[in-house]
Amino acid sequence: MNIIKFEDLPISDDIKRAVIEMGFEEPSPIQSQSIPVILSGKDVIGQAQTGTGKTAAFSIPLLEMINPEEKNVQAVVLCPTRELAIQVSTEIRKIGKYMHGIKSLPVYGGQPIERQIKALKSGVQIVIGTPGRVIDHINRKTLKMDNVKMVILDEADEMLNMGFIDDMEEIMKSIPEERQTMLFSATMPPQIKKLSKKYLKEDAKHVAIARKELTGSTITQNYFEVNGSQRLEALCRLIDLDNPSAGIIFCRTKKGVDELVASMQAKGYMVEGMHGDMSQIQRIKTLNKFKNGSLKFLVATDVAARGIDVDGVTHVFNYELPQDIESYVHRIGRTGRAGREGTAYSIITPKEFGFLKQIKNVTKSNIERKQVPTVQEIYNAKFKIMTEEVSSIIEAEDYSKFVDIATELTQTHDSVKVIASLLQSQFKNQLSFDYSSDKLESPAKVKGDDVRLFFSAGRRDGLTIKTLISYIKNNAKVGASQIRDIDIMENFAFVNVDNSIHRQVLEKCTGGKINKRRVNVEVSTNNKKKSRNRNRKSKNN
Ligand code: ADP
Ligand code: MG
Repeated sequence: MNIIKFEDLPISDDIKRAVIEMGFEEPSPIQSQSIPVILSGKDVIGQAQTGTGKTAAFSIPLLEMINPEEKNVQAVVLCPTRELAIQVSTEIRKIGKYMHGIKSLPVYGGQPIERQIKALKSGVQIVIGTPGRVIDHINRKTLKMDNVKMVILDEADEMLNMGFIDDMEEIMKSIPEERQTMLFSATMPPQIKKLSKKYLKEDAKHVAIARKELTGSTITQNYFEVNGSQRLEALCRLIDLDNPSAGIIFCRTKKGVDELVASMQAKGYMVEGMHGDMSQIQRIKTLNKFKNGSLKFLVATDVAARGIDVDGVTHVFNYELPQDIESYVHRIGRTGRAGREGTAYSIITPKEFGFLKQIKNVTKSNIERKQVPTVQEIYNAKFKIMTEEVSSIIEAEDYSKFVDIATELTQTHDSVKVIASLLQSQFKNQLSFDYSSDKLESPAKVKGDDVRLFFSAGRRDGLTIKTLISYIKNNAKVGASQIRDIDIMENFAFVNVDNSIHRQVLEKCTGGKINKRRVNVEVSTNNKKKSRNRNRKSKNN
């Protein structure tokens, strides 16, 4: 592939100068491919993995196409959260730093509306906003959409999702039809893509950056299987082992965020939460602390962290797996940005194994299983860091202040004892968690040596005891003697298998088809012979 340079793109010198100042050496693939298409006036769906510079991919041509002579709103960028609106607005200002006569403004809820009204009156051409506040301004007639020529949906699939679709509908109605529409996101589920056709012209171009994997290949992904009650301890062990300089921890719900923040703070971790129920000021304060490094960990819901770009996030923790596969991609994309390395850890219970398997398949990523570290391993890691630190201090001869006291101590005590005691005092406060045992017990298994598995196919799918046994036998390559206690219900089925093969069965039988139905397999949490209420998806975000 030929490498395109910023010089080769038909953009003004003012923009080139600014992006070079921002440290961009060459355009990323999504930038070099979408900028010319956008400049040609076509509608665009721009899809590229997280952290690949989608913001600049639409901001550069957008700035290029604004007419600085006209002092009215010509472009609107819509984002799902306030933080993202601010972030995009900051990037647009940086890219447009040397352009004259162009004004942009972020508008979002939580900020006094009067201030925004005043700013809007001063002749803003680019508005970057969250849907709610944009509608508010449209209704107050403080934001006139008549001259809008460009609309951009950042995190487009989220914007066209249930939570926002009504607002989007209303906003789109207020914008003249001959506009140019651009949708950007890392993920674009088929049903959303279909829906997006409504807003795009027939000849819209889908610029998708081909990649081997959906998720960034610079991200190492692992999972850890634990009991539900051990999630917190597993998380703390992982943090204590890796000592990340900045990490984002994901929970499914706002309540989950609040609870985890409280438990972690009680253990002395520097952590704060971020979700939609918190005040605007609080959220911005927290995000700023996280950005400048005075806060090590951020606990967030999926929506709150969408698109957020923080330099140097080394770790993403899935304290709980997300609701859908797209969210997994977006979550782990908070690390490994702009080609850097990152680590993504998922803490799962045996029940979630089937879903993890699906994530693995769909994202084609290599999520390897690992054991939660033992306390000894955590100490070993810390000792290693300390040994290296001591060696480098010795090398740099950076210890003169302490020579006298060291001499004095070694005159009265054996030098090994002195060093060991210093280590003791240094390390006694190193672990934040009061770990009760060296090793975290393995997740509890169902009754004895059997594991009860749930299959998401049943009588209505034509499933019989015989077909289920042969399905398991053929897919997992296990003997019929290791399968027993089968219960076929109307919509699903349960079966007991030997503990030693249950993982194999989960792995090989998930995602296959029984009489045209794609089946999901999970470890059942209920007692034998009892059916259960399948109601995993409680959307609460
Ligand atoms: P995305 O929206 O694709 O997830 P962002 O637009 O937030 O990614 O960009 C991720 C980071 O990469 C940002 O800090 C951005 O400034 C930086 N970046 C964007 N384009 C380039 C480039 N061409 N070269 C280097 N860094 C870039
Ligand atoms: Mg983005």
